[in-house]
Amino acid sequence: MTAQLIDGKAIAAKVRDEAKAQVAAFTQQHGRAPGLDVVLVGDDPASQVYVRNKERDSVQVGMRGTVHRLPADSSQAKLLALVAQLNADAAVDGILVQMPLPKQIDAETVIATIDPGKDVDGLTPVNAGLLCLGRPGLVPCTPMGCMRLLDEVGCNPAGKRAVVVGRSTLVGKPIAQLLLARHATVTIAHSRTADLAKVCAEADILVAAVGKEALVRGEWVKPGAVVIDVGINRGADGKLHGDVEFEGAKQRASWITPVPGGVGPMTIAMLLMNTVTAAKARIAVKR
Ligand code: NDP
Repeated sequence: MTAQLIDGKAIAAKVRDEAKAQVAAFTQQHGRAPGLDVVLVGDDPASQVYVRNKERDSVQVGMRGTVHRLPADSSQAKLLALVAQLNADAAVDGILVQMPLPKQIDAETVIATIDPGKDVDGLTPVNAGLLCLGRPGLVPCTPMGCMRLLDEVGCNPAGKRAVVVGRSTLVGKPIAQLLLARHATVTIAHSRTADLAKVCAEADILVAAVGKEALVRGEWVKPGAVVIDVGINRGADGKLHGDVEFEGAKQRASWITPVPGGVGPMTIAMLLMNTVTAAKARIAVKR
């Protein structure tokens, strides 16, 4: 078997088009565009690129996108004051504080300060709790992107065995929750999991979110499985590689995401969707 590739670029373009249509409808109805405010502290080169892309893509779909840049030596109090200001600003629908933050700032404290209704990264304790309870809330972008990829290839998780390798708050745990909400039987594997090969081999849906190149070997993939590779690793060859040994896995899976061009493009597309969702929900609450 040779797997079909899940084209994240094309699917992300489709999601952006959907966001654009929703932004246009919102703007016409409410006389203003949804607004996304991104906060960047410091000058980490990768973060600068991510933030620029978020600003560019939000403007491309017709939203207001603003980046607030603070110097690397900014105090936590200064950042918290900015977040409070954005929380209070009626024109701000989505707030995203770009991670990682400099050492003097406690990320958890900052995240917990964001108005959950504007938390388009879905990381506040309120939104994480709502996700666990299976209630509506804002969901982290990358996990939501993974679910959309499954839907686009016609993979219904209900009744399937799903294995998520990685248990981070940002990726692994929310993906597992979303799969559970869609009635998959979910196993979460992590660095202390015994016999990872055996666990992975049970998966009809295998999600890798670890950050270690080719950790998941091709021969661990159950024939016919759908493989979603979230990992982004810079290899010794200077190129980007996933957490799954792609060539081997491709021989066994039915569908597989490439790296790059799989999950990666979905994250910003879902951020745009979350911002429109947040904007609509805030208007609905005001009524
Ligand atoms: P974290 O470092 O926060 O979490 C990694 C997880 O992998 C942990 O739960 C850890 O287990 C687990 N792990 C580490 N080593 C092993 C091992 N040998 N066997 C099994 N599990 C292991 O990473 P993130 O979740 O933030 O990111 C994961 C990957 O996804 C990274 O490559 C990141 O770059 C990428 N990413 C991609 C995005 C995209 O848009 N495509 C967005 C976000 C992330 P334990 O908890 O026990 O330590």
